[in-house]
This record gives sequence, structure tokens and C-alpha cells, in this order.
Amino acid sequence: MIALPASITNEVLTPGLYVLATPIGNLGDITLRTLHALQNLDYIYSEDTRVTQTLLGAYGIRRKLLNYHDHNGAKVRPLIIQQITQGASVGLVSDAGTPLISDPGCKLVSAVIHENLCVFSFPGPCAAIAGLTVSGMATDAFRFCGFLPTTSNQRCLKLKALSCVSETLIFYETPLRLGAVLSDMHACFGSRQVCVARELTKRFEEVVRGSLDDVSIGLSTMTLKGEIVLIVAGCPDKETTPETIDATLVTILEKHSVKDASRLVAEMFARPRQEIYMRALKLKNVTS
Ligand code: SAM
Repeated sequence: MIALPASITNEVLTPGLYVLATPIGNLGDITLRTLHALQNLDYIYSEDTRVTQTLLGAYGIRRKLLNYHDHNGAKVRPLIIQQITQGASVGLVSDAGTPLISDPGCKLVSAVIHENLCVFSFPGPCAAIAGLTVSGMATDAFRFCGFLPTTSNQRCLKLKALSCVSETLIFYETPLRLGAVLSDMHACFGSRQVCVARELTKRFEEVVRGSLDDVSIGLSTMTLKGEIVLIVAGCPDKETTPETIDATLVTILEKHSVKDASRLVAEMFARPRQEIYMRALKLKNVTS
């Protein structure tokens, strides 16, 4: 066990909720401050106690762990609030990376804040940020999009809504769907740069960069395993003219209702929905 410096061991864990990031693969990626917290917090809630026990075991920490996940959250939240109100320090960890990021914890943090109790961040690994930093894409502005819908129809709806976003886009994906997702991305985004970051920080870490058409063809014949972050370049800057909006509306109206198309396009171009709805109605009448 590593000897922790006094500035860390002297940190008093005052009552509140502690959001603790843990490794996304490599067990070495944990902060000294988080290790100290894991040893000393009054209670630790984890998404899967077996996964967290493996991490604690690697550092010789023996703790009783409690469960907090999507299925018991409603029942457990009042208990956690009560524990903090009575003066306890309570930790929250997920299976890997930063809790709340495509992981449970958002409702818990809101509930704790709602009760005027403290929330502390003990930051660390997050696959989205790890992927972005090795992608070679613009990092000045990015949008984390989490997991895409599993059906191609719903996925394309979401991707079309993102197609005019100029920020770098970050997605979580499973290897099984990767081929289908890359091909939907190609259909909705055209040929942009993409980065497939797989098994980051682990033994079989692999980062593939290239254009969406090349990468989707290159990976289509491979059976990939492991965990994947996809990073896609944002839409190149172009002036939003009424013609651009109409052209986008016409494409989306081919497969969607006026209501759905105007909602999507209003979101894409950050325009009032009513204005876009009127344009869509007009276009629908012209084209029908
Ligand atoms: N909270 C986590 C975080 O901070 O990154 C994410 C949890 S989410 C349930 C799990 C997804 O994160 C995986 O399906 C994968 O898309 C991504 N992920 C997690 N670890 C990864 C790794 N080592 N390399 C690439 N992607 C990873």
C-alpha cells in the first residue's frame, strides 16, 4: 500500500456526498485522495459491489459496501439523505470512471443539493475525456452524447439532430453495434473524421483514426471486443441561411412528420420551433 502524504491523510471528510471517480481499466489510475476517501468515508455506495471490491482489494482496503444503482435508487436516496443529515460522509462510485457520466448518480446528487447538503467531487478517469484527448480532434468545444439509441431509425433521428453541431461529438458504444453505428454516422454526417478509441488504458488499447467512410469499411470485417468511445469531428462551419434550413427540412420531411421534423431542425439550428414549423408546413405543401 502506498504511503499517502499528510496533506491527503489530514483531509477531513465533512458530512456530504462524495462523487468518486475510479479507473476505466488500468487499476493504477486512481487518485491518492480517492484512496484515502475509500478508506475513511462513513459509507460507500457502489453500482456493483463485486466490481468495487476488486478495486479495493488491489489496494488492500477492506470495506463493507452498499448498493446504489438505477433499480434501487428511489428506495436508497432517502436513506443516504438521512445519513448525511445525521453527519455522515457518503461516497458514491460506479463500476468504472466518473459516476453520473452514463452511470447512476444524477438523481442522487440533485436530491442531496435539494436538501441543501454538500456534494464533493473527487475527480479522475472518464472514458469520454480520455478518448477525446487521444482523438486529435478539436477540444475547445465538445458535446458528450452518451449512448445512441439501439435501433437504426431512432439512431438516425438523433444523428440528424446532431449533424449541424459544430462541436466535436463524443459517444459511448458497444463493439457489437459499432459497424451499424459507423454506417449510420456516415449516412447522416457525410465523410467526417472519426476516432474509435477502444479499451483505453487496458492491455489491448487501440485507437483508429480516419474518415468515416474509410474507418467504417476498415472495421466492418473485424469482430471487435471491449469498450469503445467514438469521437466525431463537428460540422464544418457554414453560414446558416434560410436555404440551408429549408434543404435540411426537405431531407428530414422525407421520413418524418412536420411536427417531428420541425422539432429536430429547430434544435439543430437553435431557432424558434414555431418559425421552423411554419417553414416545414410551407415546404410540405409545396412538395406534396
Ligand atoms: N462513467 C464511465 C466514464 O466515466 O467513462 C462510463 C460508464 S458507461 C456505463 C460505460 C461505457 O464507457 C462503455 O460502454 C464504453 O463506451 C465507455 N468506456 C468505459 N471504459 C472504457 C475504456 N477503457 N475504453 C474505451 N471506452 C470505455
